[in-house]
Amino acid sequence: MSELNLILLGPPGAGKGTQAERLTDDFNLPYIATGNILRAAVQEGTELGRQAQGFMTAGELVPDEVIIGVILEAVEGPAARDGFLLDGFPRSTGQADALGEGLERLERRLTAALLIDVPDEDVVRRLSGRRVSVKTGRVYHVEFDPPKHEGRCDVDGSRLVQRDDDKPETVRHRLEVYRTSTLPLVAYYEERGSLRRFDGTRSPTEVHDHIRATIATLRLEDEL
Ligand code: ADP
Ligand code: ADP
Repeated sequence: MSELNLILLGPPGAGKGTQAERLTDDFNLPYIATGNILRAAVQEGTELGRQAQGFMTAGELVPDEVIIGVILEAVEGPAARDGFLLDGFPRSTGQADALGEGLERLERRLTAALLIDVPDEDVVRRLSGRRVSVKTGRVYHVEFDPPKHEGRCDVDGSRLVQRDDDKPETVRHRLEVYRTSTLPLVAYYEERGSLRRFDGTRSPTEVHDHIRATIATLRLEDEL
């Protein structure tokens, strides 16, 4: 079977994590989520966490030299040998070049860059209502995807919290950072013929159906 090397692109709050959870189940792909890796490093107090924490709290990108090595190691590791789903990386052209070179060294190529598009108004509404389980990391929304019991994760009843960087002032800054540093990747992957766009304002199920259909087609094309 052909390998699926996928990245998820889109502004903060587009629904990348929500879709990733479903897609990794569908296609049995290892899920490499930069934000989750960084937040775990901060919690564990590792060197990576120490270097990343200030940038994350401020809604800035962690510098390329801190993040690139960590993510390439995951992509090149044995768990991702048959494919991967990258969420939150690359977020700059420097990171995209590094990923491209890393894959080339392994004689692999990107299958697709999946862009989930949503306007700024939706981003603010989604991030201000986002709640995350302290234990499982599962993501909810107070209005659009509420847990069965308020403030508790459906999976294990763990506490749901708001991320520090989901406060309105930081969200606005993260959107600016997205526009300046990450949006150029849309043209970058379009020029390389890898970009696939999805309307992220649809329901999670509709977005999921669209992405799944696209991946199935890409896989078929690859096998022909
Ligand atoms: P969201 O899911 O809201 O888009 P993430 O959880 O992916 O946010 O990222 C949270 C924070 O972690 C970012 O605001 C940034 O500080 C840092 N971060 C995540 N991915 C990267 C990356 N590829 N490069 C630099 N910083 C990153
Ligand atoms: P990202 O990983 O891109 O930052 P998330 O998957 O964490 O985004 O989603 C951000 C918030 O929006 C979460 O609270 C999530 O429950 C909610 N959400 C995700 N997809 C949708 C959607 N299609 N419609 C409405 N709300 C959504």
